[in-house]
Amino acid sequence: MEVRVDFDRCEANGVCVGIAPDIFDLDDDDQLHITTAVLPADREDDVRTAIAQCPRAALSEHP
Ligand code: SF4
Repeated sequence: MEVRVDFDRCEANGVCVGIAPDIFDLDDDDQLHITTAVLPADREDDVRTAIAQCPRAALSEHP
């Protein structure tokens, strides 16, 4: 699976970074980066949790 961020919705509050810091990263300018294009299978559960808990519904899952 792949996770994408809608930058029009992301407010850089870091919830996703707190759940999966190896996948999501905020830089010094509060820009969110996704560190890997295709997620390892063993990280999918945490990423789905991050998608569900993003308060701005900025994250989405793609096959
Ligand atoms: S949890 Fe959502 S709003 Fe917060 S940094 Fe991540 S993508 Fe952006």
